[in-house]
Amino acid sequence: MSNDGYDLIVIGGGSGGLACAQRAAEYGAKVALIEAARLGGTCVNVGCVPKKVMWNAAQIAHAAHDAMHYGFDLTLNGHDWDLLRERRDAYVERLNGIYARNLANKKIAVYQGFARFGGPNTVQVADTTLTAPRVVIATGGRPSVPPIPGAELGITSDGFFALRERPARVAVVGSGYIAVEIAGIFTSLGSETSLVLRQDRVLRQFDSMLGDTLMKIMRDEGVEIATQAVPRAVTRDADGTLRLLTEDGRTLGPFDALVWAIGRDPIVHDIGLERAGVRLDDRGYIAVDRHQETNVADIFAIGDVTGRAQLTPVAIAAGRRLADRLWGGMTDRHLDYSDIPTVVFSHPPIGTVGLSETEAVDRYGAAAVKVFTSGFVPMYHALTTRKPRAEMKLVTVGEERRVVGCHVIGAGADEMLQGFAVAVKMRATKRDFDDTIAIHPTSAEEFVTMR
Ligand code: FAD
Ligand code: NDP
Repeated sequence: MSNDGYDLIVIGGGSGGLACAQRAAEYGAKVALIEAARLGGTCVNVGCVPKKVMWNAAQIAHAAHDAMHYGFDLTLNGHDWDLLRERRDAYVERLNGIYARNLANKKIAVYQGFARFGGPNTVQVADTTLTAPRVVIATGGRPSVPPIPGAELGITSDGFFALRERPARVAVVGSGYIAVEIAGIFTSLGSETSLVLRQDRVLRQFDSMLGDTLMKIMRDEGVEIATQAVPRAVTRDADGTLRLLTEDGRTLGPFDALVWAIGRDPIVHDIGLERAGVRLDDRGYIAVDRHQETNVADIFAIGDVTGRAQLTPVAIAAGRRLADRLWGGMTDRHLDYSDIPTVVFSHPPIGTVGLSETEAVDRYGAAAVKVFTSGFVPMYHALTTRKPRAEMKLVTVGEERRVVGCHVIGAGADEMLQGFAVAVKMRATKRDFDDTIAIHPTSAEEFVTMR
């Protein structure tokens, strides 16, 4: 069967694909969208959304423990992990339905199945062949698993969301966003958690203050952190428990579960890219220019599959801007990938935008960089026995002290950063920060009172 007449085929119904398809349809384009699994993609089904629900549960666990220090007489009778999973999944299902209705309202044709290019303008899904002058690849990625013996005994973030019960003892391998977020959730909800790093610090891509502080807080909360532990193999004991063997001869465990959180691989294989002639970059992602154009005319790629700032709002922004340019008459509309703010939903959370201190020194030279910091125990913890600190840093450059980096770890950091990211994007200076009246009593006020 052949279905012609589309202006655009979008492969992948995740954050980027949905955003691009809908914006194009709003401009009047006739759009076909192909999704192999569930609408909403990684973020909605096995990413941001279910993760934030789990993070909220972990926050509540902390608050419940802190409550007695605020005079509450609470008896906590435990936590029902499977009930939380059930309620969370029901919410996600509601979202899947909302996405389907939104697409129908915009008259976007949805094809269910795994799409493969037949040629530059031809895409096959099941027994249907679709053609369109323009194709957008928004296939995202999937969790990486290391090629070592026994790796299949572990689960990934996808498996984390499928867990029917909370493992009592768990190893989380990795040092990035997912590793610290999942380790934080397990710890807060009561698992004995080991975080396994192949280097010495978590979140090495960010300002070192953030990872150093988080590791100290995690250790205070009882997380066992193994450093310089390069995974060599995973074995299963007769009682079903797992052990992780490292390159330097250590045996870690026993664990009831092991989670790989070591990055994600782009979905670029098996989709017939060679038949369309689309090239990958040297890291294995789809190579695109600033207009999201691949090396083949009228084939575009957006989101995680392009390997830059793998975040939902980035995929959405790239998709919308592409549609604005192609159908909305905004000729040079494209996404500026600099100064993208991001939050790590650790415990406490982290917010960061712009350059780390090291990046600023590398770019502008040590003499041009001046850093302002503040560290304190947030007022909330004045009454609690837990005392996780907050640490903040402003990185400024030049005589005018332009703020090029804004970094914070501490309670509320997740909701704090968005506004400061606007300031950084607008090239605010330290003077602008100083001239802004503080909001008291908050942690955020430290950003405008640093000396
Ligand atoms: P995806 O959302 O992955 O969508 C790709 C879609 O394409 C999928 O639905 C897939 O099934 C489909 N597909 C793939 N191949 C084909 C094919 N051949 N045919 C048809 N369909 C296909 N980002 C944030 O900003 N904030 C967060 O808090 C956050 N938390 C996260 C937590 C976890 C555990 C994970 C894994 C990710 C998280 N992310 C977060 C990242 C975010 O989910 C991704 O950056 C975002 O989903 C990327 O959108 P995308 O459209 O590029 O890809
Ligand atoms: P990340 O890229 O954040 O971190 C993975 C880290 O794991 C690597 O940086 C590396 O760190 C370590 N690693 C890599 N290979 C191995 C290995 N073989 N053994 C042990 N450790 C290894 O990936 P994640 O999987 O955490 O997340 C994927 C992406 O999803 C993120 O980059 C982010 O863009 C997005 N995301 C965003 C979230 C948010 O916005 N809050 C939440 C979750 C995900 P090192 O070099 O230090 O060893």
